[in-house]
Amino acid sequence: MTDCLFCRIIKKEIPARIAFENEDYFAFHDINPQAPVHVLIIPKRHVERVSFMSEAQNSEAGGLIITARNLAEQHGWNDFRLVINDGPQAGQTVDHVHLHLLSGRKLSWPPG
Ligand code: 5GP
Ligand code: ZN
Repeated sequence: MTDCLFCRIIKKEIPARIAFENEDYFAFHDINPQAPVHVLIIPKRHVERVSFMSEAQNSEAGGLIITARNLAEQHGWNDFRLVINDGPQAGQTVDHVHLHLLSGRKLSWPPG
């Protein structure tokens, strides 16, 4: 997906503050942070939405959470929130699955 913003960030065609990278996942700091820590964890394989993922992507989906957990643990980001927006009505603005990792302040509930 050459026209996907996050695929271009993975390919380093667009600069980002990278937090983590391995064969399957990529993590980078959000350009418009909503908390002192706001990192996006994404699968390197392009998939638009969680609702478009199949049962076969079970381990890919689970790996997103474990990657986020490992990042938080390594950095001492104790107490965090993981969020995935699916579709425009839920606030999704980039069509490449991304897990928001938010930490570093008291977070209110419910979200808007
Ligand atoms: P969504 O609203 O789709 O759940 O989240 C998309 C996120 O991507 C937003 O929090 C937005 O600030 C972030 N974002 C959009 N464009 C860029 C960019 O070019 N670089 C980075 N690092 N983050 C971006
Ligand atoms: Zn993409």
